[in-house]
Amino acid sequence: MNSSNRSAALSCEFFPPRTEAGVEKLLTTQQSLNDTFQPAYYSVTFGAGGTTRDSTLEIVKLLTEKKINVAPHISCIGSSKQQIKNLLELYKELGVTRLVTLRGDIPESGESTKELSYANELVSFIRETSGDHFTIEVAAYPEYHPESKSPQSDFESFKNKVAAGADGAITQYFYNIDAYLRFIDNCQKNNIHIPVTPGIMPITNFASLTRFSDVCGAEIPRWIRKQLEAYADDKESLQKFGLDVVSKLCNQLLEQGAPGLHFYTLNQAAATNAIWKNLSV
Ligand code: FAD
Repeated sequence: MNSSNRSAALSCEFFPPRTEAGVEKLLTTQQSLNDTFQPAYYSVTFGAGGTTRDSTLEIVKLLTEKKINVAPHISCIGSSKQQIKNLLELYKELGVTRLVTLRGDIPESGESTKELSYANELVSFIRETSGDHFTIEVAAYPEYHPESKSPQSDFESFKNKVAAGADGAITQYFYNIDAYLRFIDNCQKNNIHIPVTPGIMPITNFASLTRFSDVCGAEIPRWIRKQLEAYADDKESLQKFGLDVVSKLCNQLLEQGAPGLHFYTLNQAAATNAIWKNLSV
């Protein structure tokens, strides 16, 4: 894979804000991203980061009313088949045609509804109930999912999601391009040809990046971690360094043929817009 991609699909991820002020800010962020590079769609996380599931639906409603192309995240952990079916109906009525389909994180209490246990089962369920109405994106883990028993079993799980009917995948973020390229090689060797879009996490804050990375199993390479630590009290230098690192990663990914980029915006426009301005394709 080394054909430079000149028609990359760029998309952005939001989380549902908890306050009215947060919603206002989200709309301003969306406007700014749209003015800068017109992302193909905006995904909205589901039950992640302490938000409730209803708040995802509320934001999806708001954005669809404004004719913004939205892809809600949907997860099976903690939901019955009937609840998922109802949600799919609501999304259809709102005109949603793309879903980011996940198992979801197991709640700290360990309790969860077990009607559908893994993301591949949810993909199958969506296909059974909604046919081809939705374009289905699933998660991919170039550095492996933290709960996986082995790299092989993790890739088998990914294959199961594709076999169940996924149309595309978005990766967990990474800063090590070799992990992504190896994942793509593995896909090709296994006759998997769906687009696997790299998830991109801008670097703007060392403490929060370390916290996220520890939870989701993304590695911050030592040379990046050491430099970020050294800039701890110098926000401007830290952000400049982060922008340089992530812009280079994005350019290399596109040069290597990545089908697009999915930005984890954390509801902020500035860092993503700055990366986009540094893209050479
Ligand atoms: P799965 O693909 O089901 O895999 C989960 C784990 O189980 C893996 O370790 C896999 O190897 C293993 N596994 C799969 N099938 C089997 C099986 N049959 N037997 C044994 N083991 C198996 N979380 C949220 O809560 N809300 C969000 O909105 C959200 N958005 C995300 C978006 C992206 C792009 C990504 C990459 C992650 C997102 N997450 C979100 C996090 C995600 O929910 C967690 O990583 C979750 O722990 C796994 O979800 P999954 O869909 O990858 O699960």
